[in-house]
Amino acid sequence: MDLMTGAASGGSPGAVALVAVVLAAGYALACAIYPFTAHGRCNGTGKLRSPSGKAWRTCRGCKGSGRKLRVGRRLFDATTRHGRNL
Ligand SMILES: [Zn+2]
Repeated sequence: MDLMTGAASGGSPGAVALVAVVLAAGYALACAIYPFTAHGRCNGTGKLRSPSGKAWRTCRGCKGSGRKLRVGRRLFDATTRHGRNL
């Protein structure tokens, strides 16, 4: 409660909007440079361990690559390259 009211009364709406734009631009830039993130299901390893811990199989979610295209990058690709299958 205190945090929210403090933030609302402290800065002008323009400053808040500016911060939002800067954050969005930074995120977009980060997604352009680093388009991938670790796949959550396999922790970026591309493998799913059996309960015993010895056997493993290829993670289906990322097809064994262990990587996941970031949401921001997906939006970027969707807006720049239409009809591309990813
Ligand atoms: Zn995976």
